Amino acid sequence: VWWWSRGIEMAWMLLVPTASAAVLVYGGNRILDGQLTIGALMAFSMYLLMLLGPMEVLVSTASGLQNSLAAWDRCLDILAEPREFDGAAAPAAPPPDGQARRLFRGELDIHEVSFTYPGGTQEVLHGVSLHVPAGHTVALVGHSGSGKTTLCNLIARFYDPTSGAILLDGTDLHTIPAERYRSLLGIVEQDVFLFDGSIADNIAYGRRDAAEAQVRAAAQAANAHEFISGFDKGYQTVIGERGVRLSGGQKQRIAIARALLADPRILILDEATSSLDTESERLIQRALVELMRGRTCFVIAHRLSTIRHADLIVVLEHGKITETGTHDELVTAGGRYLRMLQAQIDPLGTDRSLDRGM
Ligand code: ADP
Repeated sequence: VWWWSRGIEMAWMLLVPTASAAVLVYGGNRILDGQLTIGALMAFSMYLLMLLGPMEVLVSTASGLQNSLAAWDRCLDILAEPREFDGAAAPAAPPPDGQARRLFRGELDIHEVSFTYPGGTQEVLHGVSLHVPAGHTVALVGHSGSGKTTLCNLIARFYDPTSGAILLDGTDLHTIPAERYRSLLGIVEQDVFLFDGSIADNIAYGRRDAAEAQVRAAAQAANAHEFISGFDKGYQTVIGERGVRLSGGQKQRIAIARALLADPRILILDEATSSLDTESERLIQRALVELMRGRTCFVIAHRLSTIRHADLIVVLEHGKITETGTHDELVTAGGRYLRMLQAQIDPLGTDRSLDRGM
């Protein structure tokens, strides 16, 4: 099809000037011979021009058709992609989401995990092992590029480890159907994804069946109820391109309300508090404490305040775990964490980003 439409386009580009020149040369000769009038030649040229318009449309339709066929080809490619998990090792009838949440406690065992990104040449994680009891909060710290996000990507099952395994309550994540595992998982990232629609729909994104009262309760727990009630249409206020624009802090609290409503067992949190004003940050921190209660949490930490209270602090360097312990233990040990901590406290006594502090 590509060659066919390219051929037509090329022929068209050559044909138009050649045909026009031929008509003028041939018609001019006929006029000199007295067999044609100038008026007849002019009329013929005019009709020819009128014919060219529709023919041009036909040619451009051919190249439009070619683009559409290429897009259709890609659609077929996506439809032909194998499912993320074929369910071969899954029980015959997976329990409904709510039941799945109750079945799993949320204990995670990361066992000798190494990982290279698909198509990548360099191993990014090297033999990472970690035991996280259910309901514990793990803070991941380390300089930019040390592998914090990659480890969270593996816990979220966006990728499978190249070697080693991640176990949830003793079951290899590999054998849990992706859909069921995702229903146990909540992710609050720096870039909050909100779609054009009402605030209520955005909060209920992961729980379509949620009642209005549940949406409201989640917003209250996320410190979002107050600003939502301030809008004329409250929870039905449309946000996004065609609606009300929210501040960064407000978006974060909507994302936290969404995660609260989804009620995940495992929570991955990429802290984003650096660009917010103090009041917003305080409200978000309180909402996060509410969200993290009773869940197994992995926090990519940028601020010391969250780390201090984490059950376990994990220091990653070049894809390896170099230190683990509580804040007090690591300070007493006097290693890498303490040096990071000291580097972060500037003369004014304010925290700087951990990523930059190392
Ligand atoms: P951190 O979150 O600690 O800043 P990352 O996990 O993002 O670190 O990155 C760890 C390493 O993996 C880096 O060297 C980075 O370049 C590489 N990396 C991250 N994402 C990808 C990707 N999608 N493909 C290939 N390499 C990646």
